[in-house]
Amino acid sequence: MNIATSEFKKTVDDLINNLNIDNFVDSEEHTLACKYKALPLGFDFLAYTFITSDGEVIWHDFQDDFGKSNDSQSLINALVYGKKRYPELEKFIPNRHESSKICPVCEGTGIWKNSKNVATGEPGNCIICATLGWVTDECYEQIISNHK
Ligand SMILES: [Zn+2]
Repeated sequence: MNIATSEFKKTVDDLINNLNIDNFVDSEEHTLACKYKALPLGFDFLAYTFITSDGEVIWHDFQDDFGKSNDSQSLINALVYGKKRYPELEKFIPNRHESSKICPVCEGTGIWKNSKNVATGEPGNCIICATLGWVTDECYEQIISNHK
């Protein structure tokens, strides 16, 4: 699955180049975005999340721990999350591919029954599929092998 096309690269680069200081959540996000040369998406589970124009997802938490992912599922989830802040990203979320699988965690509902939204008390969104209800074949295999 190639999401990071040349059009993706150009879109993300343009978004990065057009950011100005008022677009950042705080000065730390600004510092990190410059460091990683990446687009800030916001906070996700106590970490700042960024994407690069190469389609890499970078996270950096408040203990200064950081890491990155290069798999399609991480990028898809980051795009679903990031489109609220940058509607331009929405068109890069791929349509469900025939090799994809129904998300084994939420069984395709997009809702994580065992979690709770702290604000509403309702079940929270599925973080595995980012509420899409499906996951890439690669992600599915990983979840299944972790549960064996
Ligand atoms: Zn799910």
